[in-house]
Amino acid sequence: MEDIRKNLETVNNKIAEAAENCGRNADDILLCAVSKTRTPEEINRAIDAGATDIGENKVQEILDKYDAIKPVKWHFIGHLQTNKVKYIIDKVDLIHSVDSMKLATEIDKRAKGAGLTMDILVQINPAQEESKFGVSVDEAGDLVREILDNCENIRVRGLMSVAPIVDDPRDVKPYFDNVKAKYDELAQIDHPNLDFRYLSMGMSGDFPVAIEAGSNLVRVGSAIFGERDYAQFRKQQEEKNNGNV
Ligand SMILES: *Cc1c(COP(=O)(O)O)cnc(C)c1O
Repeated sequence: MEDIRKNLETVNNKIAEAAENCGRNADDILLCAVSKTRTPEEINRAIDAGATDIGENKVQEILDKYDAIKPVKWHFIGHLQTNKVKYIIDKVDLIHSVDSMKLATEIDKRAKGAGLTMDILVQINPAQEESKFGVSVDEAGDLVREILDNCENIRVRGLMSVAPIVDDPRDVKPYFDNVKAKYDELAQIDHPNLDFRYLSMGMSGDFPVAIEAGSNLVRVGSAIFGERDYAQFRKQQEEKNNGNV
């Protein structure tokens, strides 16, 4: 069994070390523990060990686990279909993955209906990879401004990005640097619904590099919970759906 407490401590130490190496304050960097495929028991162990924020990338997983998880902040970090926004609008604290006006409009509408203002990040696909969602660095400003002009119940809190998978994490630094430059530029926009606080970059394989580039929100899964076993996860889901559990 993974020693989640020890892993979390190791990750926190690495965050502190990365921050110190570039003269930053580790307290400014938020750790989001990414718990996709993990059981509520595992997630609650992470919370007991000090995790304050957890991230999921599937609406269904949030709905399945929500009631069994101790009080915590929920981050939605995956691709979000407009028809599923209504299921999570009153459950999550931050949606990292807004990459179209269509999605923003739906979030705004559902937030209004629920009587809340939703915090969101605009997702950038910095290498314009086909396999990933997100707008280009150049398109991000237009999307942020269009959201501010049209969505009263959305507060734009920053940017998120997923770097390409490379052999040497140092190779992703230029992508992170580009997103950070865009973040600094857009943070200057003067609008009541824009309050930049989060630059969400960095996962288990590249969070120290992301911190060096200026990330203040890292999304770390396997380094905390262990490697994900998707075959095992699917088997559990099937058993549950068949009523065998
Ligand atoms: C799964 C996931 C992570 C965490 O990945 P690890 O490599 O396990 O740390 C971070 N961000 C997003 C968007 C993810 O889907």
